Amino acid sequence: MMGKAHLAISTGVTLSILGLNNLSISLPVVAVAAVSALLPDIDEPNSLLVSKTIPKDLIRLLKALMIGIGIFIYFAGSAFAPWNTVIAILAASIFFVPTRTFRNVIMVLAGAALILFGHSFIPWNYIIGCLLIICALVPHRGLTHTFYGVAGWTLLLFFSTHTYDQAIWIAGGVSYLLHLLADSITNHGIRPLPPFQFRLKLRLMSTGTSSGTLLENVCIGLTMVLVWFVFLRGVDLSHLIPS
Ligand SMILES: [Zn+2]
Repeated sequence: MMGKAHLAISTGVTLSILGLNNLSISLPVVAVAAVSALLPDIDEPNSLLVSKTIPKDLIRLLKALMIGIGIFIYFAGSAFAPWNTVIAILAASIFFVPTRTFRNVIMVLAGAALILFGHSFIPWNYIIGCLLIICALVPHRGLTHTFYGVAGWTLLLFFSTHTYDQAIWIAGGVSYLLHLLADSITNHGIRPLPPFQFRLKLRLMSTGTSSGTLLENVCIGLTMVLVWFVFLRGVDLSHLIPS
């Protein structure tokens, strides 16, 4: 399924479930639900979450910067020859590393920096740091689409936020699980419990086809109806109408 569909369906249904159970819905809860909706696809090259967090243009810019740094080291470090040439070639060679690999290196470094130094300026630095590292190291379309992924993410959220707000880890876990359930109705399906070959595949829709897109939009529409039913049905809108 497309990132947009996951974002709308997982987030909408999760918030509706919380609303029906009278759990408080704060901004962090909405944010965690939205991130968790997109998280399982983070190991895909064009994942909505990755491309929004670390845009391709930024990576191109950093790569070009490495060439510049290489040239600078070559000239500025001439007193240390031949080491200036060696380091310059190393720096410039990063330009030729594939974008995906380079992005993973950036994610690991940023994650490690957040875990080590982030606590003073970013709340939840452990969660974001761990996430960046896990996402960079998880094999392609691997562990994220399994029940282990659901359990791991839910536990990480539970231990880092349960003293603060119970709704956060519930929202994250439910939203992540809903992403997997949505994927399991596609022709790709998921393998929720490797090494077991068991595949969850209802084949209700084919991703990428026009009927698949139509069904995605129907699901998004149904989610909107659910959200409206849970949150707006009982709201008195009469004061909006001028008398
Ligand atoms: Zn997915």
